[in-house]
Amino acid sequence: MRKHYDMIAIGAGSGGLSAVERASEYGKKCAIIEMKTIGGTCVNVGCVPKKVMWYAANTAATINNASGFGFEIGSVDFSWEKLKQGRDNYIKGITTWYDGYLESLGIDYIKGFASLADNKSVSVNDQIITADHIVLSPGSTPFVPSIEGSEFGITSDGFFALTELPKKVAIVGGGFIAVELAGVLNALGSDITLIIRSGNLLNGFDAMVVDTLTKEYQKQGIAIITNTDISKLDSNGDIHCNNKTLEGFDEVIWAMGRSPMTNNIGLEAVGIEVNNKGFIQTDKYQQTNIAGVYALGDATGRAALTPVAIAAGRRLSDRLFNGMSDRHLNYDNIPSVVFSHPPIGAVGLNEKEAREKFKDIKIYQSSFTPMADALLEHQTQTALKLICTGDEEKVIGCHIIGEGADEILQGFAVAIKMGVTKSQLDDTVAIHPTSAEELVTLR
Ligand SMILES: Cc1cc2nc3c(=O)[nH]c(=O)nc-3n(C[C@H](O)[C@H](O)[C@H](O)COP(=O)(O)OP(=O)(O)OC[C@H]3O[C@@H](n4cnc5c(N)ncnc54)[C@H](O)[C@@H]3O)c2cc1C
Repeated sequence: MRKHYDMIAIGAGSGGLSAVERASEYGKKCAIIEMKTIGGTCVNVGCVPKKVMWYAANTAATINNASGFGFEIGSVDFSWEKLKQGRDNYIKGITTWYDGYLESLGIDYIKGFASLADNKSVSVNDQIITADHIVLSPGSTPFVPSIEGSEFGITSDGFFALTELPKKVAIVGGGFIAVELAGVLNALGSDITLIIRSGNLLNGFDAMVVDTLTKEYQKQGIAIITNTDISKLDSNGDIHCNNKTLEGFDEVIWAMGRSPMTNNIGLEAVGIEVNNKGFIQTDKYQQTNIAGVYALGDATGRAALTPVAIAAGRRLSDRLFNGMSDRHLNYDNIPSVVFSHPPIGAVGLNEKEAREKFKDIKIYQSSFTPMADALLEHQTQTALKLICTGDEEKVIGCHIIGEGADEILQGFAVAIKMGVTKSQLDDTVAIHPTSAEELVTLR
Protein backbone atom coordinates (compact mmCIF):
# COMPACT_ATOMS: atom_id res chain seq x y z
CA MET A 1 0.00 0.00 0.00
CA ARG A 2 1.22 3.53 -0.74
CA LYS A 3 2.39 5.45 2.27
CA HIS A 4 0.34 8.60 2.84
CA TYR A 5 1.50 11.76 4.65
CA ASP A 6 0.03 15.07 5.68
CA MET A 7 3.01 16.82 4.09
CA ILE A 8 5.95 15.83 1.89
CA ALA A 9 8.81 18.24 1.17
CA ILE A 10 11.09 17.78 -1.83
CA GLY A 11 14.51 19.03 -0.76
CA ALA A 12 15.90 18.98 2.79
CA GLY A 13 17.41 22.45 2.87
CA SER A 14 16.43 25.45 4.95
CA GLY A 15 12.94 25.74 3.46
CA GLY A 16 11.80 22.13 3.28
CA LEU A 17 13.12 21.29 6.72
CA SER A 18 11.38 24.24 8.35
CA ALA A 19 8.02 23.36 6.78
CA VAL A 20 8.03 19.71 7.92
CA GLU A 21 9.48 20.55 11.35
CA ARG A 22 6.67 22.99 12.06
CA ALA A 23 4.03 20.62 10.64
CA SER A 24 5.27 17.79 12.82
CA GLU A 25 5.06 20.08 15.87
CA TYR A 26 1.35 20.28 15.07
CA GLY A 27 1.19 16.47 15.16
CA LYS A 28 1.22 15.99 11.40
CA LYS A 29 2.92 13.06 9.71
CA CYS A 30 5.61 14.26 7.30
CA ALA A 31 8.32 13.01 4.99
CA ILE A 32 11.25 14.92 3.54
CA ILE A 33 13.27 13.78 0.54
CA GLU A 34 16.88 14.76 -0.15
CA MET A 35 19.10 13.68 -3.03
CA LYS A 36 22.39 15.05 -1.65
CA THR A 37 23.07 15.99 1.97
CA ILE A 38 20.59 17.03 4.61
CA GLY A 39 20.78 20.73 5.45
CA GLY A 40 20.93 21.80 1.81
CA THR A 41 23.00 24.68 0.48
CA CYS A 42 23.21 26.75 3.67
CA VAL A 43 24.70 24.03 5.83
CA ASN A 44 26.86 22.26 3.26
CA VAL A 45 28.00 24.76 0.62
CA GLY A 46 26.60 28.13 1.68
CA CYS A 47 26.18 30.26 4.79
CA VAL A 48 27.82 27.96 7.31
CA PRO A 49 31.13 27.02 5.61
CA LYS A 50 31.28 30.55 4.17
CA LYS A 51 31.03 32.12 7.62
CA VAL A 52 33.77 29.80 8.93
CA MET A 53 35.98 31.06 6.11
CA TRP A 54 35.02 34.64 6.92
CA TYR A 55 36.12 34.14 10.52
CA ALA A 56 39.40 32.68 9.24
CA ALA A 57 39.90 35.74 7.04
CA ASN A 58 39.12 38.05 9.97
CA THR A 59 41.75 36.22 12.01
CA ALA A 60 44.31 36.83 9.25
CA ALA A 61 43.39 40.52 9.24
CA THR A 62 43.68 40.71 13.04
CA ILE A 63 47.16 39.18 12.89
CA ASN A 64 48.17 41.66 10.17
CA ASN A 65 46.87 44.55 12.24
CA ALA A 66 48.34 43.40 15.53
CA SER A 67 51.43 45.59 15.31
CA GLY A 68 49.22 48.68 15.57
CA PHE A 69 48.40 47.57 19.09
CA GLY A 70 52.00 46.81 19.96
CA PHE A 71 52.17 43.11 19.15
CA GLU A 72 55.12 41.98 17.05
CA ILE A 73 53.97 38.59 15.88
CA GLY A 74 56.68 37.61 13.42
CA SER A 75 56.09 34.94 10.83
CA VAL A 76 52.84 33.04 11.00
CA ASP A 77 52.01 29.64 9.52
CA PHE A 78 48.60 29.10 8.01
CA SER A 79 47.26 25.67 7.06
CA TRP A 80 44.38 25.67 4.58
CA GLU A 81 44.21 21.92 5.08
CA LYS A 82 43.65 22.27 8.83
CA LEU A 83 41.05 24.98 8.30
CA LYS A 84 39.18 22.86 5.75
CA GLN A 85 39.28 19.81 7.95
CA GLY A 86 37.95 21.72 10.94
CA ARG A 87 35.23 23.25 8.79
CA ASP A 88 34.24 19.91 7.25
CA ASN A 89 34.09 18.27 10.70
CA TYR A 90 31.93 21.08 12.01
CA ILE A 91 29.48 20.63 9.14
CA LYS A 92 29.48 16.86 9.53
CA GLY A 93 28.46 17.43 13.16
CA ILE A 94 25.48 19.50 12.03
CA THR A 95 24.32 17.07 9.35
CA THR A 96 24.68 14.07 11.66
CA TRP A 97 22.67 15.86 14.34
CA TYR A 98 19.81 16.32 11.86
CA ASP A 99 19.24 12.57 11.50
CA GLY A 100 18.43 12.13 15.18
CA TYR A 101 16.47 15.36 15.25
CA LEU A 102 14.15 14.34 12.41
CA GLU A 103 13.67 10.95 14.01
CA SER A 104 12.76 12.60 17.31
CA LEU A 105 10.08 14.60 15.48
CA GLY A 106 8.76 11.47 13.75
CA ILE A 107 9.63 12.80 10.29
CA ASP A 108 10.51 10.18 7.67
CA TYR A 109 13.79 11.12 5.97
CA ILE A 110 14.07 9.58 2.52
CA LYS A 111 17.30 9.70 0.50
CA GLY A 112 16.77 9.93 -3.24
CA PHE A 113 15.74 12.10 -6.17
CA ALA A 114 12.08 13.08 -5.96
CA SER A 115 9.68 14.23 -8.63
CA LEU A 116 6.04 15.15 -8.66
CA ALA A 117 3.80 12.46 -10.14
CA ASP A 118 0.61 14.46 -9.61
CA ASN A 119 -0.56 17.05 -7.10
CA LYS A 120 -0.89 14.42 -4.37
CA SER A 121 1.90 12.01 -5.32
CA VAL A 122 5.68 12.02 -5.34
CA SER A 123 7.91 9.50 -7.05
CA VAL A 124 11.14 8.57 -5.25
CA ASN A 125 13.36 5.49 -5.54
CA ASP A 126 10.84 3.87 -7.94
CA GLN A 127 8.04 4.20 -5.42
CA ILE A 128 5.09 6.50 -5.12
CA ILE A 129 4.24 8.16 -1.83
CA THR A 130 1.29 10.48 -1.38
CA ALA A 131 0.39 13.53 0.70
CA ASP A 132 -2.37 16.05 1.18
CA HIS A 133 0.23 18.82 0.81
CA ILE A 134 3.45 18.78 -1.22
CA VAL A 135 6.15 21.40 -0.70
CA LEU A 136 8.64 22.06 -3.49
CA SER A 137 11.87 23.23 -1.84
CA PRO A 138 14.60 22.05 -4.23
CA GLY A 139 16.72 25.19 -3.90
CA SER A 140 19.14 26.45 -6.53
CA THR A 141 22.49 25.66 -8.05
CA PRO A 142 25.35 27.90 -9.27
CA PHE A 143 24.93 29.21 -12.81
CA VAL A 144 27.79 28.31 -15.15
CA PRO A 145 28.00 30.32 -18.39
CA SER A 146 27.70 28.51 -21.72
CA ILE A 147 31.09 29.54 -23.07
CA GLU A 148 34.00 27.56 -24.39
CA GLY A 149 36.08 26.18 -21.53
CA SER A 150 33.58 26.94 -18.77
CA GLU A 151 34.33 23.46 -17.36
CA PHE A 152 37.83 24.68 -16.40
CA GLY A 153 36.29 27.01 -13.85
CA ILE A 154 34.71 26.09 -10.52
CA THR A 155 31.71 27.47 -8.62
CA SER A 156 31.15 28.28 -4.95
CA ASP A 157 30.60 24.53 -4.46
CA GLY A 158 34.10 23.94 -5.89
CA PHE A 159 35.52 26.69 -3.68
CA PHE A 160 34.48 24.71 -0.60
CA ALA A 161 36.13 21.60 -2.05
CA LEU A 162 39.52 23.29 -2.65
CA THR A 163 42.29 21.38 -0.91
CA GLU A 164 44.81 24.21 -1.06
CA LEU A 165 44.80 27.99 -1.18
CA PRO A 166 44.98 29.00 -4.86
CA LYS A 167 47.58 31.66 -5.63
CA LYS A 168 45.92 33.65 -8.38
CA VAL A 169 42.14 33.65 -8.65
CA ALA A 170 39.61 35.28 -10.95
CA ILE A 171 36.12 35.55 -9.56
CA VAL A 172 33.53 36.19 -12.24
CA GLY A 173 30.47 38.02 -10.94
CA GLY A 174 29.71 40.95 -8.69
CA GLY A 175 26.98 39.67 -6.40
CA PHE A 176 27.25 38.88 -2.71
CA ILE A 177 28.83 35.46 -3.18
CA ALA A 178 31.53 36.85 -5.52
CA VAL A 179 32.31 39.69 -3.14
CA GLU A 180 32.43 37.41 -0.11
CA LEU A 181 34.73 34.84 -1.72
CA ALA A 182 36.98 37.65 -2.96
CA GLY A 183 37.32 39.08 0.54
CA VAL A 184 38.06 35.71 2.12
CA LEU A 185 40.65 34.56 -0.43
CA ASN A 186 42.33 37.95 -0.50
CA ALA A 187 42.68 38.06 3.28
CA LEU A 188 44.12 34.54 3.31
CA GLY A 189 46.75 35.46 0.73
CA SER A 190 45.41 34.84 -2.80
CA ASP A 191 45.84 37.39 -5.58
CA ILE A 192 42.27 38.30 -6.60
CA THR A 193 40.71 39.73 -9.74
CA LEU A 194 36.97 40.36 -9.75
CA ILE A 195 35.51 40.44 -13.24
CA ILE A 196 32.03 41.85 -13.60
CA ARG A 197 29.71 42.35 -16.52
CA SER A 198 28.08 45.52 -15.17
CA GLY A 199 29.67 48.75 -14.06
CA ASN A 200 29.72 48.03 -10.35
CA LEU A 201 29.63 45.44 -7.60
CA LEU A 202 26.55 44.45 -5.65
CA ASN A 203 23.68 45.52 -7.86
CA GLY A 204 20.66 46.42 -5.76
CA PHE A 205 22.68 47.70 -2.80
CA ASP A 206 22.88 51.38 -1.87
CA ALA A 207 25.51 53.32 -3.83
CA MET A 208 27.18 54.45 -0.60
CA VAL A 209 28.03 50.93 0.52
CA VAL A 210 28.98 49.87 -3.00
CA ASP A 211 31.39 52.79 -3.41
CA THR A 212 32.90 52.26 0.02
CA LEU A 213 33.43 48.55 -0.54
CA THR A 214 34.87 49.08 -4.02
CA LYS A 215 37.46 51.55 -2.69
CA GLU A 216 38.20 49.29 0.25
CA TYR A 217 38.75 46.23 -1.91
CA GLN A 218 40.97 48.19 -4.29
CA LYS A 219 42.98 49.41 -1.30
CA GLN A 220 43.35 45.80 -0.18
CA GLY A 221 44.81 44.92 -3.59
CA ILE A 222 41.77 43.31 -5.24
CA ALA A 223 41.63 44.15 -8.96
CA ILE A 224 38.09 44.98 -10.11
CA ILE A 225 37.45 44.82 -13.83
CA THR A 226 34.03 46.16 -14.84
CA ASN A 227 31.90 46.09 -18.02
CA THR A 228 33.55 42.89 -19.12
CA ASP A 229 32.09 39.81 -20.79
CA ILE A 230 34.12 36.62 -20.86
CA SER A 231 34.06 34.71 -24.13
CA LYS A 232 36.38 31.78 -23.40
CA LEU A 233 38.41 30.13 -20.64
CA ASP A 234 41.50 28.10 -21.50
CA SER A 235 42.60 25.03 -19.57
CA ASN A 236 45.72 26.91 -18.41
CA GLY A 237 43.55 29.56 -16.74
CA ASP A 238 43.79 32.26 -19.42
CA ILE A 239 40.57 34.25 -19.70
CA HIS A 240 39.49 35.79 -23.00
CA CYS A 241 37.28 38.83 -22.72
CA ASN A 242 36.49 42.06 -24.58
CA ASN A 243 39.26 41.35 -27.14
CA LYS A 244 41.95 40.91 -24.53
CA THR A 245 43.40 38.03 -22.54
CA LEU A 246 43.86 37.95 -18.77
CA GLU A 247 46.54 35.40 -18.13
CA GLY A 248 47.45 32.59 -15.81
CA PHE A 249 44.76 32.12 -13.16
CA ASP A 250 45.12 29.08 -10.92
CA GLU A 251 41.38 29.08 -10.33
CA VAL A 252 38.47 30.79 -12.03
CA ILE A 253 35.30 30.91 -9.93
CA TRP A 254 31.95 31.43 -11.64
CA ALA A 255 29.82 33.45 -9.24
CA MET A 256 27.27 34.77 -11.72
CA GLY A 257 24.06 33.90 -9.93
CA ARG A 258 22.08 30.75 -9.33
CA SER A 259 19.48 28.73 -11.24
CA PRO A 260 16.52 26.87 -9.74
CA MET A 261 16.92 23.10 -9.26
CA THR A 262 13.72 22.35 -11.06
CA ASN A 263 14.87 20.09 -13.90
CA ASN A 264 13.05 16.76 -14.09
CA ILE A 265 11.05 17.25 -10.91
CA GLY A 266 7.75 16.89 -12.74
CA LEU A 267 6.70 20.52 -12.94
CA GLU A 268 5.63 20.29 -16.59
CA ALA A 269 3.73 17.05 -16.08
CA VAL A 270 1.69 18.57 -13.27
CA GLY A 271 1.45 22.00 -14.94
CA ILE A 272 3.26 24.05 -12.26
CA GLU A 273 3.83 27.60 -13.45
CA VAL A 274 7.43 28.87 -13.66
CA ASN A 275 8.80 32.20 -14.89
CA ASN A 276 11.17 32.69 -17.85
CA LYS A 277 14.16 31.77 -15.67
CA GLY A 278 12.51 28.61 -14.39
CA PHE A 279 11.72 29.90 -10.88
CA ILE A 280 8.49 28.46 -9.48
CA GLN A 281 5.70 31.02 -9.21
CA THR A 282 3.57 31.26 -6.08
CA ASP A 283 1.12 33.63 -4.49
CA LYS A 284 1.83 35.28 -1.14
CA TYR A 285 0.83 32.05 0.64
CA GLN A 286 3.57 30.05 -1.20
CA GLN A 287 0.74 28.37 -3.13
CA THR A 288 1.55 27.39 -6.72
CA ASN A 289 -1.11 27.44 -9.41
CA ILE A 290 -1.86 23.77 -8.62
CA ALA A 291 -3.95 22.98 -5.52
CA GLY A 292 -2.05 21.19 -2.76
CA VAL A 293 1.40 22.07 -4.18
CA TYR A 294 3.47 24.84 -2.60
CA ALA A 295 6.95 26.21 -3.28
CA LEU A 296 9.40 28.16 -1.17
CA GLY A 297 13.02 29.15 -0.80
CA ASP A 298 15.55 29.74 -3.56
CA ALA A 299 13.51 27.84 -6.15
CA THR A 300 10.95 30.66 -6.08
CA GLY A 301 13.59 33.28 -6.93
CA ARG A 302 12.65 35.72 -4.16
CA ALA A 303 15.17 36.96 -1.57
CA ALA A 304 17.40 33.89 -1.74
CA LEU A 305 18.40 33.76 1.92
CA THR A 306 18.15 31.02 4.51
CA PRO A 307 15.98 32.88 7.05
CA VAL A 308 13.57 33.76 4.23
CA ALA A 309 13.17 30.09 3.25
CA ILE A 310 12.76 29.15 6.92
CA ALA A 311 10.21 31.87 7.62
CA ALA A 312 8.17 30.93 4.53
CA GLY A 313 8.20 27.22 5.47
CA ARG A 314 7.13 27.81 9.06
CA ARG A 315 4.37 30.19 8.05
CA LEU A 316 3.08 27.75 5.47
CA SER A 317 2.68 25.01 8.07
CA ASP A 318 1.16 27.47 10.55
CA ARG A 319 -1.45 28.26 7.92
CA LEU A 320 -2.13 24.71 6.76
CA PHE A 321 -2.12 22.97 10.12
CA ASN A 322 -2.75 25.53 12.85
CA GLY A 323 -5.76 27.44 11.61
CA MET A 324 -3.81 30.66 10.92
CA SER A 325 -5.62 31.28 7.67
CA ASP A 326 -3.82 34.49 6.65
CA ARG A 327 -0.35 33.52 7.86
CA HIS A 328 2.24 34.30 5.18
CA LEU A 329 5.65 35.86 4.81
CA ASN A 330 5.80 39.55 4.03
CA TYR A 331 8.83 39.95 1.78
CA ASP A 332 9.26 43.69 2.59
CA ASN A 333 12.05 44.89 4.85
CA ILE A 334 14.07 41.69 4.79
CA PRO A 335 17.48 42.46 6.30
CA SER A 336 20.53 41.12 4.53
CA VAL A 337 24.22 41.05 5.26
CA VAL A 338 27.17 40.70 2.93
CA PHE A 339 30.09 39.08 4.71
CA SER A 340 32.62 41.15 2.85
CA HIS A 341 35.67 42.78 4.46
CA PRO A 342 34.35 44.99 6.01
CA PRO A 343 30.82 43.59 6.14
CA ILE A 344 27.67 45.27 4.85
CA GLY A 345 24.20 45.33 6.36
CA ALA A 346 21.10 46.59 4.56
CA VAL A 347 17.37 46.68 5.18
CA GLY A 348 14.60 48.47 3.33
CA LEU A 349 14.94 50.62 0.25
CA ASN A 350 18.21 51.94 -1.11
CA GLU A 351 18.41 55.65 -1.89
CA LYS A 352 17.70 55.22 -5.60
CA GLU A 353 14.63 53.05 -4.96
CA ALA A 354 13.41 55.43 -2.26
CA ARG A 355 13.69 58.47 -4.57
CA GLU A 356 11.74 56.61 -7.26
CA LYS A 357 8.99 55.62 -4.84
CA PHE A 358 8.60 58.68 -2.60
CA LYS A 359 8.74 62.44 -3.23
CA ASP A 360 9.89 63.58 0.20
CA ILE A 361 13.04 61.76 1.15
CA LYS A 362 15.50 62.83 3.79
CA ILE A 363 18.92 61.23 3.97
CA TYR A 364 21.08 61.09 7.06
CA GLN A 365 24.56 59.70 6.61
CA SER A 366 28.00 59.60 8.08
CA SER A 367 31.38 58.18 7.19
CA PHE A 368 34.34 57.79 9.53
CA THR A 369 37.33 55.69 10.52
CA PRO A 370 36.12 53.31 13.22
CA MET A 371 37.92 53.48 16.55
CA ALA A 372 38.98 49.84 16.11
CA ASP A 373 41.24 51.03 13.28
CA ALA A 374 42.50 54.25 14.84
CA LEU A 375 45.94 52.85 15.61
CA LEU A 376 46.29 50.79 12.46
CA GLU A 377 48.40 51.40 9.41
CA HIS A 378 45.62 50.08 7.13
CA GLN A 379 42.44 51.80 8.20
CA THR A 380 39.00 50.88 6.90
CA GLN A 381 36.07 53.19 6.45
CA THR A 382 32.69 52.83 8.13
CA ALA A 383 29.68 54.44 6.42
CA LEU A 384 26.07 54.58 7.58
CA LYS A 385 22.92 55.87 5.97
CA LEU A 386 19.32 56.24 7.09
CA ILE A 387 16.65 56.98 4.51
CA CYS A 388 13.51 58.61 5.86
CA THR A 389 10.23 59.78 4.36
CA GLY A 390 7.19 61.85 5.32
CA ASP A 391 6.66 64.52 7.96
CA GLU A 392 7.23 62.00 10.71
CA GLU A 393 10.47 60.85 8.99
CA LYS A 394 9.65 57.17 8.97
CA VAL A 395 12.84 55.17 8.38
CA ILE A 396 12.48 53.19 5.14
CA GLY A 397 16.10 52.22 4.59
CA CYS A 398 19.19 51.57 6.67
CA HIS A 399 22.57 50.83 5.11
CA ILE A 400 25.80 50.14 6.92
CA ILE A 401 29.28 49.15 5.86
CA GLY A 402 31.95 48.66 8.47
CA GLU A 403 33.21 46.55 11.30
CA GLY A 404 30.23 45.02 13.12
CA ALA A 405 27.62 45.88 10.46
CA ASP A 406 26.58 42.23 10.37
CA GLU A 407 25.66 42.23 14.06
CA ILE A 408 24.41 45.82 14.28
CA LEU A 409 21.73 45.44 11.63
CA GLN A 410 19.44 42.88 13.27
CA GLY A 411 18.17 45.22 16.01
CA PHE A 412 17.64 48.08 13.61
CA ALA A 413 15.78 45.70 11.29
CA VAL A 414 13.29 45.02 14.11
CA ALA A 415 12.78 48.75 14.64
CA ILE A 416 12.31 49.43 10.93
CA LYS A 417 9.88 46.53 10.57
CA MET A 418 7.90 48.13 13.42
CA GLY A 419 7.87 51.47 11.58
CA VAL A 420 10.46 53.40 13.58
CA THR A 421 10.83 57.14 12.94
CA LYS A 422 13.97 59.23 13.01
CA SER A 423 12.87 61.04 16.20
CA GLN A 424 12.41 57.68 17.96
CA LEU A 425 15.97 56.76 17.03
CA ASP A 426 17.09 60.19 18.29
CA ASP A 427 15.31 59.46 21.58
CA THR A 428 17.30 56.28 22.06
CA VAL A 429 20.33 56.68 24.30
CA ALA A 430 23.54 55.78 22.48
CA ILE A 431 26.00 53.07 23.48
CA HIS A 432 29.47 54.57 23.57
CA PRO A 433 32.03 54.10 22.13
CA THR A 434 30.63 52.03 19.26
CA SER A 435 30.02 52.43 15.55
CA ALA A 436 26.35 51.57 16.06
CA GLU A 437 25.76 54.70 18.17
CA GLU A 438 26.09 56.79 15.02
CA LEU A 439 22.70 55.42 13.90
CA VAL A 440 20.98 57.08 16.86
CA THR A 441 22.96 60.33 16.67
CA LEU A 442 22.86 61.13 12.93
CA ARG A 443 22.02 64.77 12.18
C1 LIG B 1 28.13 30.47 -1.11
C2 LIG B 1 26.80 30.81 -0.51
C3 LIG B 1 26.74 31.56 0.63
C4 LIG B 1 25.51 31.87 1.19
N1 LIG B 1 25.50 32.62 2.32
C5 LIG B 1 24.32 32.93 2.90
C6 LIG B 1 24.29 33.69 4.11
O1 LIG B 1 25.32 34.08 4.65
N2 LIG B 1 23.09 33.95 4.66
C7 LIG B 1 21.91 33.52 4.09
O2 LIG B 1 20.85 33.78 4.64
N3 LIG B 1 21.91 32.81 2.95
C8 LIG B 1 23.09 32.50 2.34
N4 LIG B 1 23.10 31.76 1.19
C9 LIG B 1 21.82 31.38 0.58
C10 LIG B 1 21.17 30.18 1.28
O3 LIG B 1 22.10 29.11 1.32
C11 LIG B 1 19.92 29.76 0.53
O4 LIG B 1 19.06 30.87 0.38
C12 LIG B 1 19.16 28.66 1.25
O5 LIG B 1 19.96 27.53 1.43
C13 LIG B 1 17.91 28.30 0.45
O6 LIG B 1 17.23 27.25 1.07
P1 LIG B 1 16.31 26.28 0.20
O7 LIG B 1 15.64 25.38 1.17
O8 LIG B 1 15.48 27.06 -0.73
O9 LIG B 1 17.31 25.47 -0.73
P2 LIG B 1 18.57 24.59 -0.37
O10 LIG B 1 19.14 24.92 0.94
O11 LIG B 1 19.45 24.67 -1.55
O12 LIG B 1 18.00 23.12 -0.27
C14 LIG B 1 17.45 22.45 -1.36
C15 LIG B 1 17.77 20.97 -1.23
O13 LIG B 1 16.94 20.25 -2.13
C16 LIG B 1 17.69 19.18 -2.67
N5 LIG B 1 17.03 18.76 -3.90
C17 LIG B 1 16.92 19.48 -5.04
N6 LIG B 1 16.17 18.81 -5.94
C18 LIG B 1 15.82 17.65 -5.34
C19 LIG B 1 15.06 16.54 -5.77
N7 LIG B 1 14.47 16.52 -6.98
N8 LIG B 1 14.92 15.49 -4.93
C20 LIG B 1 15.50 15.50 -3.70
N9 LIG B 1 16.22 16.53 -3.25
C21 LIG B 1 16.37 17.60 -4.06
C22 LIG B 1 19.08 19.77 -2.85
O14 LIG B 1 20.05 18.74 -2.91
C23 LIG B 1 19.21 20.64 -1.60
O15 LIG B 1 19.82 19.93 -0.55
C24 LIG B 1 24.31 31.41 0.60
C25 LIG B 1 24.36 30.62 -0.54
C26 LIG B 1 25.59 30.32 -1.10
C27 LIG B 1 25.63 29.47 -2.34
